[in-house]
Amino acid sequence: MKVVIMRELLPAGRKPLEECFEVVSLGLDASREEMLAAAAGADGLVTDLTFPVDGELLDAAGPGLKVVANFGVGYDNVDLAACAERGVTVTNTPGALTNATAELALALAMAAARDLPEAERDLREGTWQGWDPARWRGFELSGATIGVVGAGRIGGRFMDLVAGFGGERLYTARSAKPELASRHGARLVELDELLRESDLISLHLPGGPETEHLIDDRALGLVKPSAILVNTGRGTLVDSKALIRALEEDRIGAAGLDVFEGEPAFDPGFLTAPRVALAPHIGSATFRSRDEMSRIVAANVTAVLEGSPAPNPVTA
Ligand code: NAP
Repeated sequence: MKVVIMRELLPAGRKPLEECFEVVSLGLDASREEMLAAAAGADGLVTDLTFPVDGELLDAAGPGLKVVANFGVGYDNVDLAACAERGVTVTNTPGALTNATAELALALAMAAARDLPEAERDLREGTWQGWDPARWRGFELSGATIGVVGAGRIGGRFMDLVAGFGGERLYTARSAKPELASRHGARLVELDELLRESDLISLHLPGGPETEHLIDDRALGLVKPSAILVNTGRGTLVDSKALIRALEEDRIGAAGLDVFEGEPAFDPGFLTAPRVALAPHIGSATFRSRDEMSRIVAANVTAVLEGSPAPNPVTA
């Protein structure tokens, strides 16, 4: 059976697949045309968030396709209905990247709170004038009210990581999380209340039409002028132009962003807006997490192609 890795899978996942199947790996620079051509006749596709898995790609693969294994926990790039229509199982990699992504959210929160990227630039560019009582003042997280928007696996882990700061915890989710109430005294609230009351707001929702531009001009109009917004969920959660305006007009304290609308492009306004910490979508990029994600991808492909239930199926 043939498995096509549409871009790249690390050896921890690619090697076990090569032991069982004919494996074609296209590499990071594969064009859409190359992907469509290579998919023909595939039994399994290894995909990732950087390109759409839609009817066109599924049809290019043909009727033998049994599994689309997405390398990541998010699957907003996958047309689940199109896969279901064709009887194709979709899988993801939940859990393996929870800790890594929550840790990056904390790193961005702290970097944004103290404007670390800009402070470092001052040193690197040789413009530092020496210790200054007024310059480089930022925000402290100790005692902060911290709001987690989308308190699932990563949001819940983020709440564990910030426990040492004390302060109040708020969250949104579709369902209540009693364990977060008992561990952290966290309260389930409406988004608007979370936005109004939080000193640090961390976004951990999936992307897709339901959550697109959840943080827009209206939402940003509710936040404290000292609030820090962190986004490691998906770029589409935030209206980039609205956030840039809020930063430039001092209507929000700072922002830490790992994800962007239209990646790898992003609004250049983020490069000049004040008090922003930026990362190029590296939430899951630790050695441990990426190896484990790769193994999970391989386990899902292998299970489906051997006729067993997928360990990590995704349904609409
Ligand atoms: P998860 O456990 O499914 O958590 C998602 C949370 O969002 C849950 O609390 C869920 O509520 C809530 N939610 C889902 N759909 C919603 C909707 N339409 N409206 C309101 N709330 C909604 O997923 P996870 O493993 O924590 O991952 C979360 C997201 O992080 C992924 O989808 C992905 O986009 C992103 N991510 C980014 C990186 C990175 O590199 N930056 C790495 C990994 C993941 P319930 O709990 O009530 O279902």
